[in-house]
Amino acid sequence: MKKSIFAICVILLVLLSGCDVSEKSTGNTEHIHQWQEVSGEHARICTECREKQLKPEACDFVRTSCDQPAVCRICHAINDEVESHDWILISENSDCWSTTITYDCSKCNREQVIHGDSALPNHSWKEATADGKTAFSCTRCKESITFIAEIREFSYAQDLEDYKIGDPGVKHEHFSNWDIESEITGAIDAIVRAKFELTIEYDTISVFYDKTSDMWRVDFWTLNLDGNSQSVYVNGNGLTCYVVYGE
Ligand SMILES: [Zn+2]
Ligand SMILES: [Zn+2]
Ligand SMILES: [Zn+2]
Ligand SMILES: [Zn+2]
Repeated sequence: MKKSIFAICVILLVLLSGCDVSEKSTGNTEHIHQWQEVSGEHARICTECREKQLKPEACDFVRTSCDQPAVCRICHAINDEVESHDWILISENSDCWSTTITYDCSKCNREQVIHGDSALPNHSWKEATADGKTAFSCTRCKESITFIAEIREFSYAQDLEDYKIGDPGVKHEHFSNWDIESEITGAIDAIVRAKFELTIEYDTISVFYDKTSDMWRVDFWTLNLDGNSQSVYVNGNGLTCYVVYGE
């Protein structure tokens, strides 16, 4: 009976003081910690023995970037766990020969810019035809291509007969323009692709098309100058198939 009364007294004492039941000794004196909040530190301190305890559950972690550890604003504790960025596409801009893509992280506002050169040009053409010639001028860069307006027919099979593999000036492999397919929808597309193979000076371009084999032939040559010409054969998917140099 006496024991239980004592227990009730201890509980009352604890409730009234708001203290821990745990006991500590300072010198020889046993005491019950008298906790007091420490403002700005999310810690508590015993007013008697000055023992200080952090309350880690109260940390307020902030991070400047997802890939940096988080730091508690109050006690400067470090949380090593890093997060992955959540990239959101902000913009994508293409000019004639490159593309720039910008991403922002929705969590830390980090910006990421990816700049890549284009394998194929993306000109913004303006077309004009006069005096038997067609001119394509890019409204964005300085590129300008003029060619004889009339697209004539030719026979790829016949040209393969006339200029055989092994003949001087005939090239049938190791092309520059061999790997990226894109449909050729007109002479200007064929010329742009054929120019990847160009190794000579020229002042005139004429274009031929073989409907049967869906093959374009782009001739680069110089007016009033025999020889020193280059015929580039580009198929309907934009790939070089054959090159013949005039001698
Ligand atoms: Zn204490
Ligand atoms: Zn903290
Ligand atoms: Zn981030
Ligand atoms: Zn351009």
